[in-house]
Amino acid sequence: VRKYVKDYIRRNGLLTLSVLAVITGCVLGFMLRGLALSTQAKIYFSFPGELLMRILKMLILPLITSSLMSGLSSMESKACCRMGVLTVTYYLWTTFIAVVVGIVLVLIIKPGYGTDVESNRLGGGQVITSADALLDLVRNMIPSNLIEATFQQYKTDLIPIFKTPVNTGRPNFVYLMPDDDNPKGRTVLLELTPAPDIQYKTRPGSSQQMNVLGIKLGWYGVTVLAGLFVHGLILLPFFYFILTRKNPFTYIRGLLQAMVIALATSSSSATLPITMKCLLENCRVDRQIARFVLPVGATINMDGTALYEAVAAIFIAQVNEHELDFGQLVTISITATAASIGAAGIPQAGLVTMVIVLTSVGLPPDDITLIVAIDWILDRFRTMVNVLGDALAAGIIAHLCRKDFPPDREAKASEAKQD
Ligand code: ASP
Repeated sequence: VRKYVKDYIRRNGLLTLSVLAVITGCVLGFMLRGLALSTQAKIYFSFPGELLMRILKMLILPLITSSLMSGLSSMESKACCRMGVLTVTYYLWTTFIAVVVGIVLVLIIKPGYGTDVESNRLGGGQVITSADALLDLVRNMIPSNLIEATFQQYKTDLIPIFKTPVNTGRPNFVYLMPDDDNPKGRTVLLELTPAPDIQYKTRPGSSQQMNVLGIKLGWYGVTVLAGLFVHGLILLPFFYFILTRKNPFTYIRGLLQAMVIALATSSSSATLPITMKCLLENCRVDRQIARFVLPVGATINMDGTALYEAVAAIFIAQVNEHELDFGQLVTISITATAASIGAAGIPQAGLVTMVIVLTSVGLPPDDITLIVAIDWILDRFRTMVNVLGDALAAGIIAHLCRKDFPPDREAKASEAKQD
């Protein structure tokens, strides 16, 4: 066994290091929690992680632009068109399926029903209609200044060449945190703005409310995780198997490093360079296909986010005892799909685009505050499913387009060059 482990570690050095780094980070994090560190100390401890994020983010823009340019420019237009249509169709289909899985689970588990507790909704927010939010989504996909959109940093999207983020109706975030100083708990309102000028507002809440909400939140978390499990480890591998007749889990094994990085960073865009590396080196997907399918997927395909948005919206409706009819469920499935397309591949972007889903069925956008407390952890798992969805799609499209991109084509091209 020891020899096998040693061998495995030697062959998968980077993967082993990534897993060890994540475990060390988690252990350190839990140990340091008890020490109630000052903000300054927290900044020092998180510094290496911040550097890693910056390095990964730095790679995204050159990687996407060069991948798409070199990939598309060397492709025949017919093959390119076929691959494009297949890719977008597959992405929309799987996102819609993810939403349906989420809706079915949340309707069965009903995490938001239970003891009556008044919602912790805060009033006074900006009133945004779903039409406004959708218009904003589409409007922001077309930047008026391409250069600015490419280089801007504080917008929530890391791929502004494709789309810029939803700007209207930035929600107010509330953390429900009972602690020693505040045994009854308190509600902290964080106004998310693109610039780092964060403001906090507090108001008291009763401890009974906190407990009941805590239990509901727990069930909500279980529902999202169950949905992500069903979609990511059962349905997506099943589609892969049906369409390629190959073992999906052998393919997924090649993606482990990308999965670990997605879990650690909560950002599918930051994981993109690693996903690309895994696809090319471990899964042996055609370079041109990977260079097209992955960047497009990182932009529009977020199955995990779509599933979570649908579950969260219905959970909020349940907490508010707001009965949803069939038409409203259909609206949620459409808007959750749109909101996931509009979400950037960065931490907790889905929380921001959720405004579209909530307002589409008349739920108060401020109620996003109900789910924010556990969003950081759910975000890590939905990011893994987002990355997995893109990577499996690349394998499927490579298989479906194998006639246009025969495996020995690259070898022949390089031989021709040498001649
Ligand atoms: N963090 C997710 C991602 O990067 C987006 C989200 O759902 O918030 O893919």
